[in-house]
Amino acid sequence: MALEADDIDYGGDEGYGRGKGKGKGAKGGDDKRSGPARRKVCRFCADKNVAIDYKDPQTLKYFITDRGKVIPRRISGNCAKHQRKVAVAIKRSRMIALMPFTVTGK
Ligand SMILES: [Zn+2]
Repeated sequence: MALEADDIDYGGDEGYGRGKGKGKGAKGGDDKRSGPARRKVCRFCADKNVAIDYKDPQTLKYFITDRGKVIPRRISGNCAKHQRKVAVAIKRSRMIALMPFTVTGK
């Protein structure tokens, strides 16, 4: 008699609020590669039709900054041979006033 097994407390789920921890905040760490990721192929090697001509400032202007400096090879992606030709062409072009030596702001 009197097997009162009724009040077994099965605890239920109180508490255990599973927390709000979302992930571990894993943020990329040191990603040093920023800046414009250009296609690293020399334009002139890729396209044989494009000539480097000191009389052609339209082409050369891609290789100077807006202040008139020659863009370094690591940025422009030119190969050494063509970068040299571009640099020479820009210098010649400057001498005949097709390209600026410098561009100053106002
Ligand atoms: Zn090249």
